[in-house]
Amino acid sequence: MTEVDPRWYQDLVELAPDAAVLIDSEGRIVLVNQQTERLFGYPRQELIGQRVEVLVPERFRRRHTVHRDGYFGEPKMRGMGTGVELSGLRKDGTEFPVEISLSPLRTAQGLFATASIRDASERRRAQQKFKDLLETAPDAMIILDAGGVIRLVNAQAERLFGYQRESLTGKPVEILVPERLRDRHAGHRANYFHSPKVRGMGAGLELAGRRKDGSEFPIEISLSPLQTEDGLWATAAVRDITERKAVEHKLARYTEDLERSNHDLGQFAYVASHDLRAPLRSLMSFSQLLRRRYGAQLDSGALEYLGFIEESAQSMQQLIDDLLAFSRIGQGEPEQAEVDFESLLAEIKHRLAGLIAERGVVITQDPLPCLRGTRHELGQLLQNLIGNAIKFQPGADPKVHIGVRREGDFWSFSVRDQGIGIAPEHQERIFKIFQRLHTSDQYEGSGVGLAVCEKIVRRHGGRIWVESAAGEGSTFHFTLPAA
Ligand code: ADP
Repeated sequence: MTEVDPRWYQDLVELAPDAAVLIDSEGRIVLVNQQTERLFGYPRQELIGQRVEVLVPERFRRRHTVHRDGYFGEPKMRGMGTGVELSGLRKDGTEFPVEISLSPLRTAQGLFATASIRDASERRRAQQKFKDLLETAPDAMIILDAGGVIRLVNAQAERLFGYQRESLTGKPVEILVPERLRDRHAGHRANYFHSPKVRGMGAGLELAGRRKDGSEFPIEISLSPLQTEDGLWATAAVRDITERKAVEHKLARYTEDLERSNHDLGQFAYVASHDLRAPLRSLMSFSQLLRRRYGAQLDSGALEYLGFIEESAQSMQQLIDDLLAFSRIGQGEPEQAEVDFESLLAEIKHRLAGLIAERGVVITQDPLPCLRGTRHELGQLLQNLIGNAIKFQPGADPKVHIGVRREGDFWSFSVRDQGIGIAPEHQERIFKIFQRLHTSDQYEGSGVGLAVCEKIVRRHGGRIWVESAAGEGSTFHFTLPAA
């Protein structure tokens, strides 16, 4: 405490940036500075000798007197009414927000106190703006200080946690945390204030909030530091993710079910086609045996029938092989390697060299990219499309063009022919298994090729479709992710 003669004090307070009011222990104003005259609109002679409560709005006066007496009982330097919005009263009766700090002054004439008073209108306006802003946020917002005390919340936070605003402010933020997590939370909170930055809370952890009624709910929180005049605070934006969790859960269950039934189906197709091979093989061998041993005894009609049996068995063999190939795609994790489409096309041309030479096929192409995928599957995709493009151009010198274009995150490929085309009404179903638009007499095949293509493209994260009109050639398009 300082020992000062109040008469010297006058000069001192005139230097102060804020309004200063010196009062005695009875609460009577002893001296004021010029800033006080300006702030409250009184000439100083009207203030000296008055109780300081003239500067306090009527409705607060009684309480103020009590607090004042309390202060002189335990005088020390401190802010007045922390957390309370204080108001001053001007001579003309208008009120304005103030911030006040108090310091005791011990003199030969006894104990005095200085109130230094600052007009808080500007600051209050800024605070109000901030509060208004907080209310417009879509999330529940909770602002806490470094000690973990809730300083401010918005209406969304009241609703979310089921508390009235007044019963949240001033409380430790841990009241919003389930009891079992509180200790850990307090530790994390202290750490946050050590290295405060904008970030999500508890990455990878399941966070939970606790309502006033004790019930818990899953939440997501993002934190950002907030520099205030009262030190470093933090803003927590809290979002209830109950619904999202429920949807995620449902989706995970669907996916699991789907994966299981897909796997079962694949397994079924695989086993069935595998098991069908053995009886088919004996069917074929016995009909060959029949032809070899008893061929001489059979008339031409019987031999023709035998031919039909063999032919059917052969086409069934083809069907089964295709089905097996189809069900094999996607068994196990796809190996992801860099696939160079230039070399892939070269390989395919090599494999189809006989057919290309025989039919006089002309294949043209754009420069082809490299991308990540399963090489043998992408090879199968391209080969099926080129094979079809050749097959369905019955005329001489079939032409096939392989184009590619970058579209955003995807490569968009096309395989174009000048063949028989596909009527619009069939353009979707041809990608389903065993869907053919022709009989085996017209064009051989089993209707599995495009289903295989669709499955491969889908597994790689792309899509496939056809653009065509009957008699005008077809362009098969497929996309594959570029990254
Ligand atoms: P497959 O060729 O064994 O019959 P796909 O699944 O490869 O089986 O094709 C399904 C059907 O789609 C074919 O039977 C054919 O009718 C039609 N198709 C496929 N590619 C072409 C094409 N390039 N031009 C015309 N039609 C086509």
